[in-house]
Amino acid sequence: MENKCPFCGNESIINGKLESTGGLVFIPEGENGLIKKSSYISALACRKCGAVFGFKLTDKPVKLTD
Ligand SMILES: [Zn+2]
Repeated sequence: MENKCPFCGNESIINGKLESTGGLVFIPEGENGLIKKSSYISALACRKCGAVFGFKLTDKPVKLTD
């Protein structure tokens, strides 16, 4: 996982996750089942310039495609 801002090079990084009401999720294309496979998304933010990067599924990607 990156621990350095790809935009300004600052190494003071905040770990977090993306959320909206109920939580923001990633759903694979073509996932049409009643219960959709999905994963929450974590991200990193730069303390200096505010860039958000390093989006990562919080579940193992293979869980979405099984
Ligand atoms: Zn930065």
